[in-house]
Amino acid sequence: MSSSPNRRRLVIGNWKMHGTQAGNATLLDGLRSGASMADDRDVAVCVPFPYIPQASTLLQGSGITWGAQDVSMHAQGAYTGEVSAAMLADFACKLVLVGHSERRSMHGESDKLVADKAVAALGAGITPVICVGETLEEQQAGQTKDIIARQLAPVLALGAQKLAHVVLAYEPVWAIGTGLSATPEQAQEVHAFIRDRLAGQGSAHVRILYGGSVKPDNAASLFAMPDIDGALVGGASLKAQDFLHIAAAA
Ligand code: PGA
Repeated sequence: MSSSPNRRRLVIGNWKMHGTQAGNATLLDGLRSGASMADDRDVAVCVPFPYIPQASTLLQGSGITWGAQDVSMHAQGAYTGEVSAAMLADFACKLVLVGHSERRSMHGESDKLVADKAVAALGAGITPVICVGETLEEQQAGQTKDIIARQLAPVLALGAQKLAHVVLAYEPVWAIGTGLSATPEQAQEVHAFIRDRLAGQGSAHVRILYGGSVKPDNAASLFAMPDIDGALVGGASLKAQDFLHIAAAA
């Protein structure tokens, strides 16, 4: 069984803190060459802030969209080092990651802050891709659903009107960058749990992406699960061929 046709497939590359202008030009050119697949699915890349203008220039008209990896919850003002949602919109960003586990763990981002950032993005017409996921210790202690429910709580509280414009990403922390992806069944179980929570808010149609060591050879089996609507791809998004292969499987 594949995902509901009402939930258009979405594959996002998360470049993290990688790239140079020269290297990006090659990667973005490679993506452009395979961009026709963006006709019947959504394909996007979230690049480091300084490279957003470059992504915008090189992806313009390709059907592949671009975005950022974080955003401030504040609109403007004395927030040294932060970047507002309006600034991202100024560079035609269509989406922004919020609450990636690397930000939650290394920058102490709370569940509430993540929801506030999602609201800031929505206010600028940008789709927040809200990331949730448990650590290895939490998984081994059987706490996965409790953790996901806690992370989701302030997001669900946003209400159906806002939820209609968000994307969720389930990224088990133990699967990120480790080569150890969740099995399709493991991921599906958590996706179904998230879907159920969303349905309780009248928002069952929200897209839920899986992230964590998605590669060309495991993408199709993940996408075959009924509640997996696409992927958030880290390492494999740095090679055009691999990323396009994953996008083609969606
Ligand atoms: P990965 O990263 O694909 O390298 O595991 C995914 C992510 O952190 O978004």
